[in-house]
Amino acid sequence: MKSSEFIQLEKKYGANNYHPLDVVIERGEGVWVYDVEGNRYLDCLSAYSALNQGHVHPEILKAMVEQASRVTLTSRAFRNDQLPLFYKELAEMSGYEMSLPMNSGAEAVETAIKLARKWAYQVKKVPRHQAEIIVAAGNFHGRTTTIISFSTEPAYRDDFGPFTPGFVIVPYGDSSAIEKAINPNTAAVMIEPIQGEGGVIIPPAGYLKKVKEICERENVLFIADEIQTGLGRTGKLFACQHEDVRPDLTIIGKALSGGFYPVSAVLGDAPTMGLYQPGEHGSTFGGNPLGAAVARAALRVIREEHLVENAAVQGEYFSEQLAEIPSRHIKEVRGKGLLIGVELKPEAGGARRFCEKMKDAGILAKETHQHVIRFAPPLTIQRDTIDWALPRIREVLTMP
Ligand SMILES: *Cc1c(COP(=O)(O)O)cnc(C)c1O
Repeated sequence: MKSSEFIQLEKKYGANNYHPLDVVIERGEGVWVYDVEGNRYLDCLSAYSALNQGHVHPEILKAMVEQASRVTLTSRAFRNDQLPLFYKELAEMSGYEMSLPMNSGAEAVETAIKLARKWAYQVKKVPRHQAEIIVAAGNFHGRTTTIISFSTEPAYRDDFGPFTPGFVIVPYGDSSAIEKAINPNTAAVMIEPIQGEGGVIIPPAGYLKKVKEICERENVLFIADEIQTGLGRTGKLFACQHEDVRPDLTIIGKALSGGFYPVSAVLGDAPTMGLYQPGEHGSTFGGNPLGAAVARAALRVIREEHLVENAAVQGEYFSEQLAEIPSRHIKEVRGKGLLIGVELKPEAGGARRFCEKMKDAGILAKETHQHVIRFAPPLTIQRDTIDWALPRIREVLTMP
């Protein structure tokens, strides 16, 4: 079947909640994907950073196939022989004492919200059901009804109320706004260290450190959503480490399974993570042996292939080279590691048409918001591949 036929089927039978580029991928390998006509593309989105290890990484594939042939799901009603090893390896790698595994990123965010509320009532002694969580404008934390309740993006929430109360929105990047919003009922501050979906928005230097200091002083939990920025994407294992900040809770997902299988987790220490009691939270698939085995392999690949270091080195080179493109459309190139945003001027007519042209040139990138092109290839990318891509990107960004 041809691409156009697949697209027709999708339009006819699928809900219309995405606006994908018209490329029908049938195979992926490392940084490359191939469409049904056999054309090759460089993946510069990495499934929103879920593919930090590249497509179909052989080590993760092996772990998945082996585990799938043994046992895939036990439910947490019983124990399995993968989850304890996943816990231990995640603790050793992240520096957190404990974790709680879920599936999607949004579920892990919900898990952290519930935990922060529980901490507020049990430890901080906030009056029951009065806890508040401070979040930032422009945030993206997922799509559940509670999470979209504190989104500031009209498309994410307009027709989906009524909304969950208990959230206070402050401007992103402004620590004094957080300071002012804190009151005795504040349980937590939850932010992304870089707002990925918000358009690769990098807060002012020192922001994370300041927020952490404020939280410590005011007895408020600091929760970092590192679902997109974590696991090496920005050139550190966690983006908060650029400012030597260790949040009370860190939320990860996406690349935790290298794109094979949904696995997410909340990381924390015993005083918070130890609060959940049997029956208070759970998930049928969360912590299943297949997901745990896949995630163990995905973490091992990040360590053994030094993907964090490679993201720092290649990201710096890629950003520098993008910034040198002489294009009248570009307003700014910004990024950390291999999370790079190219913001176009409003008069460029939106990022979409550039992404469509890049697709024709063999590079898959996606507009985020209207005017930003995000470049976030797998962290396995090497300099020669960036050098292959740059003239193609230059040609598209310098078109009229
Ligand atoms: C993708 C993302 C989520 C949601 O993850 P899902 O797996 O899509 O539910 C939450 N927070 C951030 C920062 C993300 O990038």
